[in-house]
Amino acid sequence: MQEKIHPNYGQTTITCACGNVIETGSTKKDIRVEICSKCHPFFTGKQKLVDTGGRVDRFKKRFGME
Ligand SMILES: [Zn+2]
Repeated sequence: MQEKIHPNYGQTTITCACGNVIETGSTKKDIRVEICSKCHPFFTGKQKLVDTGGRVDRFKKRFGME
């Protein structure tokens, strides 16, 4: 009988800043993220927490990167 589970690969939880907790399998324990698939505008389609586009645009203009 073969062991298919890697010895260091266990259940862990990813805790997001928005309060969402994702259970996943990983070699790391208790991962903390600032943004997840639940609150990231790329996944939700909403500009809820971040206004990345506008900020990056202003940043670029300020430093003459455009
Ligand atoms: Zn989140």
